[in-house]
Amino acid sequence: MGASPDSNFSLEPLRLSEIPAPAEREVLRLLGYREGTMRLEAPMRSVLDDARARALSLLRGAVDLAICSNPASLGAGELFARAEVVLVGVATIGAALEEEAERLVANGAWTLGLVLDAYGSAAAERLVIEVNARICKEAERLGLRAGRRISPGYAGWPLLAQHALFAALGPATAGVQLLESAIMTPRKSVSFAVPLGRDLDSESPELGCRFCDMPNCEYRRRPREENL
Ligand code: SF4
Repeated sequence: MGASPDSNFSLEPLRLSEIPAPAEREVLRLLGYREGTMRLEAPMRSVLDDARARALSLLRGAVDLAICSNPASLGAGELFARAEVVLVGVATIGAALEEEAERLVANGAWTLGLVLDAYGSAAAERLVIEVNARICKEAERLGLRAGRRISPGYAGWPLLAQHALFAALGPATAGVQLLESAIMTPRKSVSFAVPLGRDLDSESPELGCRFCDMPNCEYRRRPREENL
């Protein structure tokens, strides 16, 4: 029997300098480009470079996490049935990037504004992937496995369960506010939950590695599966 997850789980502080910049191919994917099928013309190359430089100066990463030892309270049905505890969290890149993107669009710089917005989405996802890896590392230390990271609104977890997730988070929400509609502000924020348990071995259908894009992860127990 390993350590008690809720009493021993801890995460090293996350610093912004540790958050990798999003890969350009991820930004292009969000913009509708398909790898290897579309050529980037010089004007678009220039917009991408401009957007990247702006994005890197506007990222204000923050993360808060909490341990939910009552998974049933999260309104996720059977999704966390095998979890001993669930790590809930919210991560954001802050409001500065989206404000700049909105300003650009309002001033007619549509393409640059949209590309910057896509950089923001990719950066928020990259941040959460990094946080997920920290969670997996800590889970390994405690003899646990991390299941699939999911967010309200996906995989059979209703969007309105955002309220239950934020209730489990308590007052520390990385500066993110939840509106009555279950939408978060700043928009470039991701709320999520990661089930943890001893009962998730490398064959478990819930094992997070199947769904995870973390490159070169030393703890990976299973290849990323496409088309899940
Ligand atoms: S590959 Fe697996 S162990 Fe690594 S971060 Fe992703 S889910 Fe965690």
